[in-house]
Amino acid sequence: MKKDLSLSTLVSDAAMVNDYDPNAMSVEKAKTWINHFLHNIDQKESIHIKDALHRVLAKSVIATMNVPNHDNSAMDGYAINTEQLDEQGPFSLRVTGKLFAGNKLEGTTKEAVRIMTGASISKDMNAVIPQEYVEVNGDNITFQQKPPAMQNIRTVGEDIKIGQTILQKGRRIEPCDLGLLASLGIGSIEVYRKVKVAFFSTGDEIISLGTPLLPGQVYDSNRYSLIGLLQRMDLETFDLGVIVDDKKIIEDTLKKASVFADVIITTGGVSVGEADYMKDILKKIGEILFWKISMKPGRPLAYGKIGGCHYFGLPGNPVSTMVTFYQFVREALLTLSGESPIHPIPMIKAKLLTSIKKMPGRTEFQRGFFVQNPQGEFNVSAIKDQGSGILRSMTEANCFMVLPESMGSLEKDYWVDIQLFDSLF
Ligand code: AMP
Ligand code: MG
Repeated sequence: MKKDLSLSTLVSDAAMVNDYDPNAMSVEKAKTWINHFLHNIDQKESIHIKDALHRVLAKSVIATMNVPNHDNSAMDGYAINTEQLDEQGPFSLRVTGKLFAGNKLEGTTKEAVRIMTGASISKDMNAVIPQEYVEVNGDNITFQQKPPAMQNIRTVGEDIKIGQTILQKGRRIEPCDLGLLASLGIGSIEVYRKVKVAFFSTGDEIISLGTPLLPGQVYDSNRYSLIGLLQRMDLETFDLGVIVDDKKIIEDTLKKASVFADVIITTGGVSVGEADYMKDILKKIGEILFWKISMKPGRPLAYGKIGGCHYFGLPGNPVSTMVTFYQFVREALLTLSGESPIHPIPMIKAKLLTSIKKMPGRTEFQRGFFVQNPQGEFNVSAIKDQGSGILRSMTEANCFMVLPESMGSLEKDYWVDIQLFDSLF
């Protein structure tokens, strides 16, 4: 692929491009093409860390202090200076001081100091003996072994050193990061603004919830699957409802949405019967690529741009919508959001407990249910009904079995790759 190849060139003169066949596009190739046209949205905002979970850092965070910023005790016990001890125990010392976390020393550090976890330790003490190893007699303590120097002392900067890059630009903020930032006294950070995603369902037969169905109609399930998928990705979403198969209305909706959204996702209307129809609209108002992906489910897919807005046309069959979202849109949204590096969906090897039927020629994302057997080995069974309209297969499954293009049917006990639904975000 040429580095500077633009979407317009590919749309207008695909024949120029080697090895590009919109009618037989592998999953990997489709991903690479889409990725070629994506850049992160480079607009930033400053937010408080309590609102920052799952947001993407727009600027690396550098530590402006050491954590901890003072040597302190890791245990409740007695701080001593081991230099005052002979080699052979037992040892007996007088408790000459008391030191609690956040407080000043009471008394002196002359022999032993009663100390609590987190209390600051000055240079004239070099070890803490946990209280469990000490016998107390009035003002005296006895212990058997000489501790090595610095035992149970947490030193300045052992967690974070001043000047250290603690979080990299592009990182998606996790709960531990919030704590880490707070430990540095950092209350606000710079993040990329959320990606704005508008979506709607198309189809004359598709009906919104709350309206009784007439013969031949189905409820709009895709929009709700999408709502769930998008909600897990920390985006700004715009639910544009169901739109009937009417050129003018679809065109107007796409045009309007392309002004305020970074991405438009539609479901339905990209399969063979209707492809030309969406094609006409999108050709008129933007640039569009229609692909037949060698995958199952989810063969038709459209990607393009309307002005600066990215467009994804997903197939209408409910399982196809979800599979194409996971395999193409998810990663695109992560790229746009500024996340870097993007980790591919982890694959795990699992042994088949059932045989599976497959024809070579397409990558299949069959739904499976995995368990970990007592030996720790992953085992997977195929869900019985694999039709692209059978959404129940997603609910009954907990993973995709990813079966490569070249693979045919498999007998029980074969090892296959699986993607756990839990690891998809
Ligand atoms: P299409 O991709 O428009 O040809 O639709 C393929 C199949 O998916 C048809 O049976 C549609 O009725 C069904 N379908 C399309 N959109 C939806 C939707 N939003 N919810 C449920 N089923 C849908
Ligand atoms: Mg349709």
